[in-house]
Amino acid sequence: MRQSTLCPTDRDDIIHPPWRPAMSADNCPICAEPQLLTIQPGELECRFCKAHLINGRHICPACKRANEIGIAHCSICGEPLTVIGAVISRQAAGHGSQRLEQLKTQAGEIKAQAERHSKVRMADLEDVDHRRIQSERDASFQQHMRDQSILKYTAIGAGIFLLLVAIISLIAIL
Ligand SMILES: [Zn+2]
Ligand SMILES: [Zn+2]
Repeated sequence: MRQSTLCPTDRDDIIHPPWRPAMSADNCPICAEPQLLTIQPGELECRFCKAHLINGRHICPACKRANEIGIAHCSICGEPLTVIGAVISRQAAGHGSQRLEQLKTQAGEIKAQAERHSKVRMADLEDVDHRRIQSERDASFQQHMRDQSILKYTAIGAGIFLLLVAIISLIAIL
């Protein structure tokens, strides 16, 4: 039984001429929210996901062609018809394009930052390499110096030894 205070007849369009949008008792077939607004008999719009439905068909927001309810993409133009797809395409189309640009800029910045970081890492590696080469050079220089001093002292020792031999020989002869 209908609530007769508002609707004394079964014809809502007679009571409210012309048809005024009214909330539907049904849930949105796209997002399942109870947000369906009846624009006119047979035409519904979801206030939550903005799905546009005419006679049980999902109207593509891009090309306005009727699609079967539940398909992911418009069979004509490929526009996403799911809730997330609709949100993304709205974001891209509306002021969201700003957000998209922002995301692109952010992506660019992240990339640039990563490049900077990798450059820093490269510089670090180069620095480490440079220091390694330097310390190897230092080590080999020190080794060279040690070798030099060993040779020097060996030569001095040999000289002293030869000198002693000469002196002893001289004393023996005398
Ligand atoms: Zn919806
Ligand atoms: Zn389409």
